[in-house]
Amino acid sequence: MASHSFKTIREIHDAFDRKIVSPTELADEYLDTAKKSKHNAFITICEERTKKLASSAQDLLSREGKVPRKKFPLFGIPIGIKDNMTMDGVRTTCASKMLDNYIAPYTGTAVARLEAAGGIGIGKLNMDEFAMGGSTENSAYGPVLHPQFPDRVPGGSSGGSAAAVGAGLCMAALGSDTGGSIRLPASFTGIVGLKPTYGRVSRYGLVAFGSSLDQIGPMTRSVEDAAVIMNMMGGHDPMDSTSSPTPNEDFLKAALSEPHWKNLKIGVPKEYFVKGIASDVDHSVRAALQWYEKKGAHLVEISLPHTHFSVAVYYIVAVSEASSNLARYDGVRFGVRPEAADQAQDLETFYKKVRSNFGPEVKRRIILGTFALSSGYSDAYYKRACQVRHLIKKDFDAAFSKCDLIAGPVSPTTAFKLGAVQDPLQMYLNDIFTIPANLAGIPAMSVPCGHDKDGLPIGLHLQAPAFAEGRLLSVARAFETRGTS
Ligand code: GLN
Repeated sequence: MASHSFKTIREIHDAFDRKIVSPTELADEYLDTAKKSKHNAFITICEERTKKLASSAQDLLSREGKVPRKKFPLFGIPIGIKDNMTMDGVRTTCASKMLDNYIAPYTGTAVARLEAAGGIGIGKLNMDEFAMGGSTENSAYGPVLHPQFPDRVPGGSSGGSAAAVGAGLCMAALGSDTGGSIRLPASFTGIVGLKPTYGRVSRYGLVAFGSSLDQIGPMTRSVEDAAVIMNMMGGHDPMDSTSSPTPNEDFLKAALSEPHWKNLKIGVPKEYFVKGIASDVDHSVRAALQWYEKKGAHLVEISLPHTHFSVAVYYIVAVSEASSNLARYDGVRFGVRPEAADQAQDLETFYKKVRSNFGPEVKRRIILGTFALSSGYSDAYYKRACQVRHLIKKDFDAAFSKCDLIAGPVSPTTAFKLGAVQDPLQMYLNDIFTIPANLAGIPAMSVPCGHDKDGLPIGLHLQAPAFAEGRLLSVARAFETRGTS
């Protein structure tokens, strides 16, 4: 038995039932693989805690004789957690020196719900510092390596999550997505990543980056597992005032049901197939669209005319919110307080010493955000960006009156070499296709759709109207299992 060989949670549960592997053996194998791995995917491995939870699962399994799937749909499943989500008593760094010694005093809702369903938070995963980046090269704990191509990036900012799932260091992982941080790394590493509707998953316990954009979502080896995790994790939470009261649908049932092909209209935005997209990406995505058409779906050309402003709008809105959110790291309430700060003679020197703990990308964004919000400029930048954000949302409303889903590429390119993208603007442009969904608050996912000539994975991007995750999962799974039916 190798932890890599299981494609779904269901397969693991069957193996538990048939005593092919026990929960403790499985946990040990994942721990062992994680410890030996060279990917730098983990910042913290929760060894003791994992062993303890796996051994309780083992006891329960021995008593019951069979996996109690109904009560614990994630029974004994090792899940990696991005290091910007809190777990009681566990270090939570956000891959920043600023939080190097921060031990969270509570568990956030998403993680708590997964553990209540039997999942085991095996450790905390590396990421771009405070989730700012697209390659996981901005971590204060070193870059994460692509799971199959160690000279390449896994994408970011949830690069640790993608590498850990892709390399078999955990069965599934949680990521967070503010402008593409679940979908971009999922597409770069050939796994499934879902960014839910804004408000579907509680942000309680997620360290805030851009609060009006951030969402937690699953990163898995199969669409089915993403659905299982969403069933457990989604739904209203009184601890997050932006969490929606819209009830969860049964995501697993939706994922496993065949789409009504004849009634399905897939929108293909003309703005998504333009110069600048790698030809292999273009080719694979078009081939996926053709597959859908062969199944009976209708492809309709649509237009999202404001797409082209989305990166500019995002880099005003996200950095403005970030500058406000990150003000709490002042060395008094939160944040490492270096000795030099305590020796400071005045407040300004004190702050300078404390806030020098931030890495260069985080500093750049705090400065940009502070500028965009400053008096005399906020109307010209922040307010204007919010107005254009509204136009982007209206583009989607208009598009969804003509189609049920929108399909296109996740990213213009496949995974690039470590260090290859030095210009921050060029890095920002990788998110051109993923950012609009965050600005509009709609659900979107990446599902593997092929490889380029070097064998690097390519992701198909599916976007749906708010709260239509079920539709996304169903259409994504049909494609994922196309060879098997
Ligand atoms: N790459 C984008 C950024 O750097 C998105 C990050 C994210 O979704 N957390 O902001």
